Amino acid sequence: MSLSEFELIDRFFRNCGAARSDVRLGVGDDAALLECPRDRQLVAAIDTLVEGVHFPAGAPAASVGHRVLAVNLSDLAAMGAEPAWGLLALTIPRADGAWLAEFSEGLCALAREFQVALVGGDTTSGPLCATLQILGFSEPATALTRSGGKAGDAVFVSGTPGDAAAGLLLEQSRLSVLEPDVAAHLRSRFLFPAPRVALGRRLRGYASACIDISDGLLGDAAKLARASSCGVELEHERLPLSVALKRACGEDRAHALALLGGDDYELLFSVPPARIGALQRDLPPAEWSYARIGTLVGELGARVLRHGNVMDFAHSGFDHFAAPS
Ligand code: ADP
Ligand code: MG
Repeated sequence: MSLSEFELIDRFFRNCGAARSDVRLGVGDDAALLECPRDRQLVAAIDTLVEGVHFPAGAPAASVGHRVLAVNLSDLAAMGAEPAWGLLALTIPRADGAWLAEFSEGLCALAREFQVALVGGDTTSGPLCATLQILGFSEPATALTRSGGKAGDAVFVSGTPGDAAAGLLLEQSRLSVLEPDVAAHLRSRFLFPAPRVALGRRLRGYASACIDISDGLLGDAAKLARASSCGVELEHERLPLSVALKRACGEDRAHALALLGGDDYELLFSVPPARIGALQRDLPPAEWSYARIGTLVGELGARVLRHGNVMDFAHSGFDHFAAPS
């Protein structure tokens, strides 16, 4: 089935996501007209997913639609911001109605869940690529940033990092897992990440700095530390690994994927010692799913300590992403 550009936009992207009263004019005109609350700062982020780069060729369309919004929601979560509006630039090789129906269902279901309205976009033909710009709000002077951490602050991470990287390896047939429920869980953590918007909102007033982990926990912890003019030490023994990840890969590889694998879209944040008690009382870790994994330190750089010794990844001789022999 081939659709005209007008039919395609009308069928799949008009009325996508939440109906919001602050959208004066959405999809259909030359531009959207949006009402920004007077007492809020506008928060903006954009992310692109390219087929074959950010997701494997042939990935389920619903997952591509979900992820192009989820990765942006994750950026807003890391700022402690409240999402509101999205604009989608979609490039598709052809107007395939079945693919587009699945893509828009994945995108629009997540948009409804997070009260985001899709207010515009652009549709072009070419190699598959989806870019979404997200707009949201932040109360002045409460946004979380990467740069507020201090030496001595505790470092926490949400969720169970590494699952998504294992899910991607499964999608690429570079990992095989015998237990179907374990494989399904890990796959869905890659295909349908759950952005931590509610946690990010609640971390304001507790966290000194925050980042979302998209490129790997260790690398993103290093980015937060550098932005805060600190170093960071993570404790290997404290990494919160899922049972599924350990069953799929074994302990050592699970740790490596948790530290170095990407696509988790969890939050990594620092908390001053004086605020840790309040954080853990007001946001119980088991309920909010986060764990302490390390500390910001004065000495620059990112290190992982295993039984108190600094791990050397460069010379470990271990290919973390290779299929087990
Ligand atoms: P123009 O040529 O003026 O840029 P278009 O014909 O590209 O307008 O788009 C018509 C309307 O549809 C615009 O309001 C635009 O924002 C919206 N739109 C186009 N593509 C998408 C899309 N993929 N998702 C959401 N809105 C879209
Ligand atoms: Mg256009």
